[in-house]
Amino acid sequence: MKIVLATHNAHKVEELRRILGPALGDHELIGYDGPEPIEDGDSFEANALIKARAAAAHTGLPALADDSGISVAALGGEPGIHSARYAGTRNDRDNNELLLANLADVADRSAAFECAAAFVDGAFEHVARGVWPGEVLPAASGTNGFGYDPIFQPEGHDVSSAELAPEEKNAISHRARAFAAIMPVVRERLG
Ligand code: IMP
Repeated sequence: MKIVLATHNAHKVEELRRILGPALGDHELIGYDGPEPIEDGDSFEANALIKARAAAAHTGLPALADDSGISVAALGGEPGIHSARYAGTRNDRDNNELLLANLADVADRSAAFECAAAFVDGAFEHVARGVWPGEVLPAASGTNGFGYDPIFQPEGHDVSSAELAPEEKNAISHRARAFAAIMPVVRERLG
């Protein structure tokens, strides 16, 4: 049976296939090319559900979606759901520079990457959350990954998440944790 992943980004479909691996069982994860809904939810969970509902409704298939970002304790959880557009440009380097500037005089640099994974199959809906705690570094370091990876140091590591090998990050990230939590529910529902 096919499961549609509510993203137009082929790279994301590939990454999630690698993250899920055997957890997919006989199911095939396919990309989505239908209309994209407005993500106007006020939480990662709400936005992941909006995306999964739209893909399920458009395709008639069971749908998975995720929504993620970085939440910084000293900034009251910001950038949070605004992570992708924090600096107003949708540019990773601008976002990182703004976050470093906003934390320039702040001692508590604790932060977490957070991900909500949503599954929608007809009227059945389930959302799971994955949290990857750590702190914001004083400066960018590393070239792997994307987004805030160069300035995020995961707890238990002494390098940024942009210095972890992609397979290592994929095994322990917020996204890995959210999907590890939701896949048993998907398997139970789809058999
Ligand atoms: P989305 O869930 O793909 O919309 O991601 C939202 C934004 O959160 C991205 O544009 C990044 O800025 C940030 N983000 C989410 N996951 C990660 C990650 O694994 N590393 C770095 N930044 C991330």
